[in-house]
Amino acid sequence: MTQSVCCTHDGPAAPVELTSVLTCPACGAASPQTMPEDACLWFFTCPACGADLRPLPGDCCVFCSYGSVPCPPLQRQRQATS
Ligand SMILES: [Zn+2]
Repeated sequence: MTQSVCCTHDGPAAPVELTSVLTCPACGAASPQTMPEDACLWFFTCPACGADLRPLPGDCCVFCSYGSVPCPPLQRQRQATS
């Protein structure tokens, strides 16, 4: 079987959540962030304490490590495999 989706722009995939609430591991501040739809964010600076957040080992971006929802590419991946 081949995938009928060759492009992610107007595919039939369910809409992904683009807002993730990042929780700073250093100070516990939660800040809602809008995620880029087709990219992972490797670095994030906490607006409350200035801590530099980086993904935990095994995670692809800070949203996967500290966000309330994982990054859009991962959401799509989960939709595709479920
Ligand atoms: Zn912080």
